[in-house]
Amino acid sequence: MNDRLLEVRGLGSGYGDLRVLRDVSLTVRAGAVTVVLGRNGAGKTTLLSTIAGLLRPFSGSVVFRGSDITKTSPPERARRGIALVQENKRVFKRRTVEQNLQLGGYSMPRRKAAEAVSGAYDRFPVLGEKRAQRAGELSGGQQQMLAIAQALMPGPALLMLDEPSAGLAPVIVDDVLATVTALKKEGLGILLVEQLVDKAMSVADDVVVVEHGRMQHLPGTGRGADRDHVRAIYLGST
Ligand code: ATP
Repeated sequence: MNDRLLEVRGLGSGYGDLRVLRDVSLTVRAGAVTVVLGRNGAGKTTLLSTIAGLLRPFSGSVVFRGSDITKTSPPERARRGIALVQENKRVFKRRTVEQNLQLGGYSMPRRKAAEAVSGAYDRFPVLGEKRAQRAGELSGGQQQMLAIAQALMPGPALLMLDEPSAGLAPVIVDDVLATVTALKKEGLGILLVEQLVDKAMSVADDVVVVEHGRMQHLPGTGRGADRDHVRAIYLGST
């Protein structure tokens, strides 16, 4: 095995007759961040949902840690180490911070879950300070941290984040991206959908662009992507 954690090949997916993705291929490496760019409605959320198993693809394959998981269920994919934080992921606002974390560890043995909760407090001290508070009382950035901490509870190998900066102040976005960088250094593979191109590119090891249901192959993208090039072609001037 190489360091290819996730390999998506020729993926076609959508909703009923609506084919949103037609031929999407990408790789996420362990210890690296792959950023997915594309205009609104390009199908970025559809891509993450399909990798998580929430949508069945029309075509193509999803290979994770060398196994074809294209036909497996979402819980099976979670068990194998795939985690998804959906856009505007709602934490359970009326539950406490600790209860939210425990929900993230529902499938884990009790002792492992307790260890993971304290690991979450080590990583995000503010969550430890607010462990007994209702999640709805946290700031938007803290709720995003809680959503990420919840997804990390079972110790995934791949973390997919769908626009984690949505609705957050720039300084908080930097905190979220610092977390992304820390997780990659711990060896996780990260698949990041993000509208804030410059912010996303600052943490990216690989960049893919979805347009018209296909990956666009850009000269110079991949490692050390040329952000001006990406911005000019796909996102208009800044
Ligand atoms: P955004 O940045 O706006 O979130 P996106 O790139 O994530 O966009 P998707 O949310 O994947 O795009 O949507 C891709 C297309 O699929 C859009 O045309 C959208 O209207 C359509 N779509 C999304 N969800 C559904 C659904 N549940 N049922 C039918 N069509 C959907």
